[in-house]
Amino acid sequence: MKTVAVLGATGSIGASALDVIARHPDRFRVGALSAHRNVEALAALCRRFAPDLAVIADASLESALRDRLRDARVATRVASGAAALIEAASGPHCDTVIAAIVGAAGLESTLAAARAGKRLLLANKEAVVMAGPLLRAALDAGGGALLPIDSEHNAVFQCLPAEHSGLDAAGVRRILLTASGGPFRGRTRAELGAVTPAMACAHPNWRMGRKISVDSATLMNKGLEVIEAHFLFGAPAERIDVVVHPQSIVHSMVEYEDGSVLAQLGNPDMRTALAHALAWPERVAAGVAPLDLLRIARLDFEAPDRATFACLDLAYGALAAAGNAPIVLNASNEEAVAAFLDARLPFLAIPHVIEKTLENTPSAGVDSLAGVIDSDLTARRVAQRMIASAKD
Ligand code: NAD
Ligand code: MG
Repeated sequence: MKTVAVLGATGSIGASALDVIARHPDRFRVGALSAHRNVEALAALCRRFAPDLAVIADASLESALRDRLRDARVATRVASGAAALIEAASGPHCDTVIAAIVGAAGLESTLAAARAGKRLLLANKEAVVMAGPLLRAALDAGGGALLPIDSEHNAVFQCLPAEHSGLDAAGVRRILLTASGGPFRGRTRAELGAVTPAMACAHPNWRMGRKISVDSATLMNKGLEVIEAHFLFGAPAERIDVVVHPQSIVHSMVEYEDGSVLAQLGNPDMRTALAHALAWPERVAAGVAPLDLLRIARLDFEAPDRATFACLDLAYGALAAAGNAPIVLNASNEEAVAAFLDARLPFLAIPHVIEKTLENTPSAGVDSLAGVIDSDLTARRVAQRMIASAKD
């Protein structure tokens, strides 16, 4: 029996995770749940899953959550704020953590879970981009396993040998990350001038939170995933390639020295990756429809349009620059995407803001959590200036 903490339980990944968990009450129970502000949804999940601990990140809502659970027949302790989130990730309420908070807000709880030696099921890719080396050190110190939830990295994990001491030892030539191309695949720059948040969030294959949906539309999601693959699999940038695959059936591939290319296929449904990581090394049902290759009939592949979707190369550039550059990339992207979703910034200005923020933030080495947080805040301030001047 595994006891699971779902951090970001009210989100898209949280819902998929809890769906898989609910299918296997003999294997998994929920030890802790967290949400940012959605008291109603978190209270409903507490009634259904009866966790030991429920954390509402926004401390001003703690009493509202407590009120909603007063008459519930569950012995859930209610807590709030950053320290409670860390307790949920690293305390005695779980042996497995699903890190599914979106953005930099998930960094400290992800690191805490790793340091505590929990089995870390990682969706929060921004934490890896910001603090890959710190996460690796925390995993080594804690001794727990990391299982990637991001569908591409979960696919790569499945296509690599179970035990290996690096890609060279495993005979790996390169990692091929697939990308759907997002809702604007094939569009020209001129056609992207007036796209709205609703258009950007209407992903053809996946239903996801708004931030990652915009990232998919700009191809920054794939850029973040290149950096994520670098840190998770120890692959240098030149051995991570991106291929656009509009059907989202091949979730990624590993090419070996002998010419073999191993791929993981499946319907675009995050429950497959979640079930894989929850049960690993075993396999359990995920509720996902069987893959019907005859209905799909064809799988297409094409090169990404790197000129129109400039975020992909900005991410490769930040990975090559190293130091604080991935932190600056992530922070300016989060600020630019929030401004776009708020109708304060046009779609095409997102890569512009990121590029200008990278240019205008002094480069620095970063070797501590305080350093990561400091670089993140500095970059956000610069990005805010760039957003303000992009509007003029
Ligand atoms: P979402 O917006 O649907 O959910 C985000 C969750 O994080 C919510 O529960 C929310 O309450 C919580 N949260 C948001 N801000 C917070 C804050 N400041 N403090 C504490 N909690 C906060 O997002 P999602 O689509 O589920 O994505 C979650 C993470 O998983 C992201 O890092 C995303 O890149 C990654 N991911 C998502 C998918 C997908 O299919 N949705 C696929 C791969 C990776
Ligand atoms: Mg992905």
